[in-house]
Amino acid sequence: MPYSVPKLTDFSSAALDAAAGELLFALEQESSAVSSENDWKNFRDRWMARKNGVLTQVNDLWLKAAPKDAKREVGQRVNELKAKVERSVDATLARIQGGPSSARLADERVDVTLPGIRRPLGAQHPVIKTMNEIIGVFRNLGYSVEEGPEIETDYYNFEALNFPPNHPARDTQDTLFIAGQDSKPLRDRLLLRTHTSPVQIRTMEKMKPPVRVICPGKVHRNDAPDATHSPIFHQVEGLAVDTNITFCDLKGTLDHAMKALFGSSVKTRFYPSFFPFTEPSADVQISCIFCGGTGTRDGGPCRNCKASGWIELLGCGMVDPNVYGFVDYDPKKVSGFAFGMGVERIAILKYGVDDIQLFFNGDVRFLEQFA
Ligand SMILES: [Zn+2]
Repeated sequence: MPYSVPKLTDFSSAALDAAAGELLFALEQESSAVSSENDWKNFRDRWMARKNGVLTQVNDLWLKAAPKDAKREVGQRVNELKAKVERSVDATLARIQGGPSSARLADERVDVTLPGIRRPLGAQHPVIKTMNEIIGVFRNLGYSVEEGPEIETDYYNFEALNFPPNHPARDTQDTLFIAGQDSKPLRDRLLLRTHTSPVQIRTMEKMKPPVRVICPGKVHRNDAPDATHSPIFHQVEGLAVDTNITFCDLKGTLDHAMKALFGSSVKTRFYPSFFPFTEPSADVQISCIFCGGTGTRDGGPCRNCKASGWIELLGCGMVDPNVYGFVDYDPKKVSGFAFGMGVERIAILKYGVDDIQLFFNGDVRFLEQFA
């Protein structure tokens, strides 16, 4: 016979004790008979359902029926019983879940000491790595980084950099032009930038002196690929414009940068050269890092510097005053220098790579050496 809540006629403490004892005994028995989640739901509903659950009946048959002077004591006891029933229902659920879930835990056990699945770690491409090294050197000198579009107009790539209209660089032999623009005026025609120098113009347009920026980026030339040429390569250019900047500042800056990149024993020398946007212009050579500048290696002439002891590495010069005219700087008040270097060229020297194409072929065996 399942337990049913009796009507009470005697509300003395002793009678209440007896009734409560009987109820708790039934509660315990029914709890211990629960062995599945379904059982437990039935058990919970039988005792706690708002409509006709045991607790509701206790409320109706005992508390509501109690005479006025017993109400306080009956109320207290009913509250105690309610708390006990709730605890029992919770504990019963915990007990049955403890059973199957420990089996599940055993099933799903993970040995955290087993080696995991390791994703191979990527590494910086040697060109990017070298570019970041160069940027780091100039960052330490107080330069900030500026970038610009790779598709440029003729104006930014040539005109504002003081290239005369018939300069050979404007020929399609050297420059990759975007097709179908013949209807546009020359200065608006689009091309793949041949150097990062347009970024210098764009920077000066939006910034007043003092300016100290480096412009790293990808550039394109209409060159057939071979061991030393690639239609795509990277440059880092630098620009410093301020009052009283002299060629001495340029020499000191680049000498420091070359020592920072290739080691403190490297020497630099400057040779007169020509660029449309600098005057005077110079090519910078560093003492050969393979033969220490002696021109001989392993008893013969050094291959890397063709026995000269020097390697040509970058171009530079004082910004041509004509360029300031394009960006609204006063050439009487400011002066400055600019320089540019090929990133692949420096990476080739630093890492002893003998073919520029290796940087772009995407051969993992080559790239892995730099990881
Ligand atoms: Zn050499």
